[in-house]
Amino acid sequence: MNNQHTPGETPQFSTELLASVSHEMRSPLTSIKGYAETLLRHEQRLAPAERHEFLLAIDDASNRLMLIIDRFFELSQLEAGTLPLVPNTIPMVPLVREAMHAIPQRCQGLSEPSAQADTACALHLEYSSVYADEEEPLMLGDRRRVREALDYVLENAVLYSPDTCTIDITVRPLTLVRDAQEFRKQLHAALLPQYGPSLFHAAQLNLPGIEIAIDDHGIGIADDHLAAIFERFYRVDTRLAREVNGLGLGLTMCKYIVEQHGGQIWVESQVDQGSVFHLWFPLYTPTEKEKLCQ
Ligand code: ADP
Repeated sequence: MNNQHTPGETPQFSTELLASVSHEMRSPLTSIKGYAETLLRHEQRLAPAERHEFLLAIDDASNRLMLIIDRFFELSQLEAGTLPLVPNTIPMVPLVREAMHAIPQRCQGLSEPSAQADTACALHLEYSSVYADEEEPLMLGDRRRVREALDYVLENAVLYSPDTCTIDITVRPLTLVRDAQEFRKQLHAALLPQYGPSLFHAAQLNLPGIEIAIDDHGIGIADDHLAAIFERFYRVDTRLAREVNGLGLGLTMCKYIVEQHGGQIWVESQVDQGSVFHLWFPLYTPTEKEKLCQ
């Protein structure tokens, strides 16, 4: 799908955009209908193995369709701030490791069949020596959603890179100075009480946090598109982007999730050199809380 609008403009539901969205939904639906019709028409003549293959194809296309619909629904909840968050303390290093290991399988099926050939990306994780104990660092948030944010960025790193590529993931501590009011405004309602009101007396917060940098060596993004890639339905028109199935929603959803956890996301990129996406989350263990409230 390709929807282009001037960076900075709010994307309108143009005829072109609606056409692209319906195309994205029509293609799995066409598969489902085709396979189901064949099964109905030739049920008696098909060998059990063939019937099974057709059912698998129907199941696969239904999953793709469900994913698209789920993403639309989730985006509407994220925009309205009504996506429920289940707060917990999350050990971050194991979570990053888990997302990294799941990536090869997640990326299968996201590209057009012709582009799927031999995706063999090597992912390397490096984490700061201050995190010797893997149970640390801990952040406060919804594990499933934070994992989802990591998945979107990792998926893109693989999909917008050549078939054989290296992706470097670095996890390190980083303290950011944040405006207290802005931080409070972004934070999801479910997390606010856990931070406690005393935190917001200061105008600025010195927030100890964790930075996850995902560095690919892929196609990169031109400067004039960089700000717009976080807008919904925005896709940069490149040959590779045309081969990758996508709605232009992943980074929008990722930004919402990160910000509703009090975090930040930013990107540096150079065309043909690659991109580094930085995800930052405040750390919030009992010790951090004591330090913050002093
Ligand atoms: P989708 O991948 O579904 O198109 P996203 O919101 O995840 O949507 O990304 C928006 C656009 O940003 C992509 O279409 C692509 O053009 C660009 N993009 C995102 N991540 C990368 C990356 N790591 N390298 C190059 N381009 C990227």
